[in-house]
Amino acid sequence: MRRLRNTKIVATLGPSSSDYEMIRALHEAGADVFRLNMSHGTHDEIREKHRIIRKVERDVDRPIGILADLQGPKLRVGTFANGSEELEPGAIFRLDLKEEEGTLSRVTLPHPEIFAALEPGADLLVNDGKIRLKVRDCGADWADCEVTIGGTISNRKGVNVPDAVLPLAALSEKDRGDLEFVCQLGVDWLALSFVQRAEDVTEARTLADGRAAILSKIEKPAAVKAFDEILEVSDGIMVARGDLGVEMPVQAVPPIQKRLVRACRKAAKPVIVATQMLESMIESPMPTRAEVSDVAAAIYEGTDAVMLSAESAAGQYPVEAVTTMDRVAQEVENDPNYRQIIEASRTDVRGSVADGIVAAAREIAETTDIRVICCFTQSGRTALLTARERARVPILAMTSLRGTARRLTLSWGVICLMTSELERFKQAVVNGARGARQMGLADESDQIVITAGVPFNTPGTTNILRVAPCDERLIFASTPD
Ligand code: ATP
Ligand code: MG
Ligand code: MG
Repeated sequence: MRRLRNTKIVATLGPSSSDYEMIRALHEAGADVFRLNMSHGTHDEIREKHRIIRKVERDVDRPIGILADLQGPKLRVGTFANGSEELEPGAIFRLDLKEEEGTLSRVTLPHPEIFAALEPGADLLVNDGKIRLKVRDCGADWADCEVTIGGTISNRKGVNVPDAVLPLAALSEKDRGDLEFVCQLGVDWLALSFVQRAEDVTEARTLADGRAAILSKIEKPAAVKAFDEILEVSDGIMVARGDLGVEMPVQAVPPIQKRLVRACRKAAKPVIVATQMLESMIESPMPTRAEVSDVAAAIYEGTDAVMLSAESAAGQYPVEAVTTMDRVAQEVENDPNYRQIIEASRTDVRGSVADGIVAAAREIAETTDIRVICCFTQSGRTALLTARERARVPILAMTSLRGTARRLTLSWGVICLMTSELERFKQAVVNGARGARQMGLADESDQIVITAGVPFNTPGTTNILRVAPCDERLIFASTPD
């Protein structure tokens, strides 16, 4: 099963997508990475979804990425006796610290520090700003709010207080527990919510201790300001437009998205554009034209991945949503304009031998009829550098490390394949050619470009580029040990 696009798809799992059949269907429809949101669901539920994803991965025999999204210092309401309530404009709705299920007139907001910071007149934004409450009166453990924009409020919806500066640590106690839990379970990516400074990222990195790559969600004005330093210490970035569009004027989001996507490509780190991409598909099998256009715009910009949140987690048409993204990506990538845009925005980064080799591999592949760039990679770095080139031919990343293969599922154009540990260069060429044929990327009569580093299995040593035939007899006849 080979994807006919380079842009990757991340699908969030939730109540609409929790059994084997559905998760497998989502993968087959195009989901390359599954997101487990630690804000929703118990550890047992997360463990079960994780088990199913790994089973699908074994059954389809292709690496699948798992991204665990830590809640971070996000304010959320508690749960409702009825699961949800309809807030009418003009009504008074109380937030408090009582440990009782919510009703039409009140709900728990389990953050004492927020009540200390609230003042009458402050606006509270619920569910990515869909519902607005204005504080009319408040005390040490309660706030009576007028509903200024109504809507359905349901369990654990997020609350933003753009006017108040809240003293919140980057990782809560819950986050630390969740981080250890998912690292032990074995996830490939850890997403950090509400990152504000580079130190927030390094703190999580220390705790993860190499067990997962770190993806920073950019959703605070402070993170936008400190973006360069945050990118420097992160392995990947998510443009988390939900909270970003609440914490900042909504019209500030598109330029920020463009800037972040470009900066990530330059740094050879994967970037995900997320939130509300196909929002109407939560309830409709058809997306709006504007949503399709939004997905397409992110792809034209060269993003590594596009993401589904509630559409796949809690919507009625999860598979249709993935299929829509898949089709949009194929259409955009087949547009000659796409190639032109992607190539015009390529920045020449030539700081190292590896930079030079991946650029040369692309040029050779594109000036001849070579069908695939095959890179042998341990840390994944060479594959990331190759992806940055956004070449016209597929990238086959060969690695002996399963974690590397899974992490690379997020990166533009990278097809991952497991290979044995290499001892001799000839073995690399044979494995690369076999891999290319096995994945349907090339046949016996084709040539491939191979990049690798000797000595083998030492990270950071990309120093070989070879054009090789796919025909094994020719390989043996022409390749030195
Ligand atoms: P975040 O800020 O981390 O994106 P979110 O609340 O927006 O948090 P998403 O994962 O983006 O969560 O999903 C959007 C919505 O889908 C949620 O608000 C929730 O209503 C629903 N949802 C997602 N995952 C789950 C789950 N595991 N259980 C219940 N509902 C879920
Ligand atoms: Mg968010
Ligand atoms: Mg969200």
